[in-house]
Amino acid sequence: MIRLENIFKWYNLGSTKSFVLKDINLEIEEGDFISIMGPSGSGKSTLLNVIGMLDEPNEGKYFFMDEDVLAMKAKKRNQLFQSHIGYVFQSYHLIDELTVYENIETPLIYKNMSSSERKAIVSDMLDRFNIVGKKDLFPAQLSGGQQQIVGIARALAGSPKLLLADEPTGNLNSKQGEEIMELFKQLNNDGVTIIQVTHSEKNAEYGKRIIDLLDGQIVKR
Ligand code: ATP
Ligand code: MG
Repeated sequence: MIRLENIFKWYNLGSTKSFVLKDINLEIEEGDFISIMGPSGSGKSTLLNVIGMLDEPNEGKYFFMDEDVLAMKAKKRNQLFQSHIGYVFQSYHLIDELTVYENIETPLIYKNMSSSERKAIVSDMLDRFNIVGKKDLFPAQLSGGQQQIVGIARALAGSPKLLLADEPTGNLNSKQGEEIMELFKQLNNDGVTIIQVTHSEKNAEYGKRIIDLLDGQIVKR
């Protein structure tokens, strides 16, 4: 499903290159469940952004479902993202001007769905995540953990084939975190490919494979 070849990402700081990803080679099969771990600043979010087509590497090749991502036009890339990928951002990235309901609905707007179909899905998400009572609130009116839950509901609303989740339980209590991990396990059993970034060894164990990043490089465990 995903193949990264010799991926380098750097930022130019004055005349020097500050490397964030160094020669990443990674193959991820459909149905896989990967946990990415590593210290703060090791490049985890950057790698997830590259996989999610939200950031471009400076060098290397990226194939998603056998298509050359870095060679395609932005429009095609957006289409691939909208149709196949659900993204849970580390800092939620909810749209401030939209209610909880409307935030969860956003990925569905890009799909060819009637408003009643959209309504059924959003209602199901609100139920599933126990946030029916919050549906008309704006992100600023929610706690960090509640925003995180809305971010997860939004990522799953479009039934993605690939779920990318950056510290999805970082702001949840341990019971909520475990519920989310159990949900991910269930989704993966149902065929969703998952790549999560986590600082928690316990959460990482939910993955079928753990990848450790250190200074932008994959290290063997
Ligand atoms: P954390 O666990 O804290 O979320 P991370 O492993 O996700 O960390 P990244 O966010 O991928 O780390 O950042 C990797 C490195 O890239 C950091 O050293 C960061 O300073 C650097 N970086 C990210 N964006 C930029 C930028 N726009 N300009 C310069 N450096 C950047
Ligand atoms: Mg990060």
